[in-house]
Amino acid sequence: MILIFLGPPGAGKGTQAAHIVSRYGVPQLSTGDMLRAAVAAETPVGKKAKAIMDAGDLVSDDVVAAIVEERIEADDCAPGFLLDGFPRTVAQAEMLDAMLQKKERRLDAVIELQVDESALLDRLRSRIAETKARGDEVRKDDNEDTFKKRLDVYREQTAPLIPFYENQGKLKVVDGMGAVEEVTAAIDAILSEFQPDSVAENG
Ligand code: AMP
Repeated sequence: MILIFLGPPGAGKGTQAAHIVSRYGVPQLSTGDMLRAAVAAETPVGKKAKAIMDAGDLVSDDVVAAIVEERIEADDCAPGFLLDGFPRTVAQAEMLDAMLQKKERRLDAVIELQVDESALLDRLRSRIAETKARGDEVRKDDNEDTFKKRLDVYREQTAPLIPFYENQGKLKVVDGMGAVEEVTAAIDAILSEFQPDSVAENG
């Protein structure tokens, strides 16, 4: 099962991805996490990406696509994978289509988590407060100014993926404003269409 999670920053993609990983046994491929790991390891990609990420801009399509292409060849991606944060531009989506075609694999569905933008800033503020309360470090791009920039980037560069995947007949829209469990149930209802047998087996 190959899936994409689409939605603005803070829509709950990471939270819902964790559920899919445990229920369907496919890995979550977060390009944000991979890039943060590259930054922490000070690899050449990480060194280039750091300032771009801190500013809330997008790392170049070629760099991100190369990371994904390498990652999906790993053994754990054989049963499928969940892309979280990729693609983020129409060019990336086209690169993904080409990659999958080359590997004779097929994208099953794109799940768009629809959220009310005004709620996102409130979610951001609570996330920052919770992170601080745990004594963890707050992500450098998790501040209000950079977050607003990331939302603008989403609207301008990523939202065009909605009609792109709608045209492919792959888009599934989920209301992301409910409680976490409600959103999870809505996603499960969609995914039961794709893997009814294994869903039944895994309970
Ligand atoms: P995320 O954790 O998905 O919010 O990503 C954090 C940051 O990493 C983004 O604001 C971008 O700077 C960069 N990034 C992650 N995924 C991509 C992508 N697919 N294309 C370009 N930049 C990305």
